[in-house]
Amino acid sequence: MPSASSPDAPSRLATAAAPAVIALDHVTKQFEGKRRVVALDDVTLSIAAGDMVSIIGPSGSGKSTLLNLVGGLDRPTSGTVRIGGQSLADLSDDDLTRVRRDKIGFIFQFFNLLPTLTCLENVGLPLHLRGWPRLKVDARARELLTLVQLDHRLLHLPDELSGGERQRVAIARALSVYPPVLLADEPTGNLDSRTGDEILALVRDLHGRLGSTVVIVTHDMKVAESCARTIALRDGRIVEDIRREVRK
Ligand code: ADP
Ligand code: MG
Repeated sequence: MPSASSPDAPSRLATAAAPAVIALDHVTKQFEGKRRVVALDDVTLSIAAGDMVSIIGPSGSGKSTLLNLVGGLDRPTSGTVRIGGQSLADLSDDDLTRVRRDKIGFIFQFFNLLPTLTCLENVGLPLHLRGWPRLKVDARARELLTLVQLDHRLLHLPDELSGGERQRVAIARALSVYPPVLLADEPTGNLDSRTGDEILALVRDLHGRLGSTVVIVTHDMKVAESCARTIALRDGRIVEDIRREVRK
C-alpha cells in the first residue's frame, strides 16, 4: 500500500509540499471553435501551501478554465502548470491520473455522485480505487460522513437526498484521501444560502484541520472576502490579487 494512503497521513501530506503548492507560469488557454476564445491569457500565479484563495470574476472570465488546468482536467495551450513543483505537462496520462487521485480533491457545483452507489460507497470510492481494504474504506467513509453530519444517511442513494445533503456527500468524497489541494467550483452555487453557509463552514473547518490548500471559485462576495486572498479574473487575465487578514 502506498504510504500516502495511510489514514494518519494528513498533516504530513499537507506540510510536505513545496511552499508554492500551485504555480502557473505564463499560462494561456485557447479554445478553437467557430470563433477562437482565449479563456486564459498569459496568467502567472502562485499559491502557497495551506492558503485559502477565492477566485472571482464575471461569467466567462476563465475561472473554471483556471481550476480545470490546476486540477489537470485540461491542458494549457501554452505555459506551465506545476503542482507541488511538478510540471503537469511532464507527466504521462497515468501519472497525471495518479496526481489527480492522490493530491487533488474536486468539489463541483454539480455533484457528480454515482447514482447507483450509496453515500457510503460514493465516499469510499476514491479509497477503493487506491486499493484500500474494504473494512478500512468503510470505516473512513463512515467517519467522513459523520464529519459532514450525514451519519444517518449512510445507505441512502443520492436521489434520496436533498441538494445540500448531496453536496455534503461530494465534499466528504473529495476529502476522503486528505487531498493536499482542494478545488471547489462554485460549491454553493445551487444551494440555498443557509445550506451554502453550512457547506462553506465545513470546507473552512476541514481546511483548518487538515491544512489543505483550498481554491474556491465563487460569485458570492461574502464567501470571497472570507478567504485570506482573492484573485479577480476578467477576460482571462488577473485584474486584482488582494490579501487580507482573516480570523482563523
Ligand atoms: P467562467 O468559469 O469564469 O464562467 P470559463 O472558464 O468556463 O468561465 O470560460 C471562459 C471562456 O472560455 C468562456 O468564454 C467560454 O465560452 C470559453 N470556454 C470554456 N470552455 C470551453 C470549451 N470547452 N470549448 C470552447 N470554449 C470554452
Ligand atoms: Mg465556471
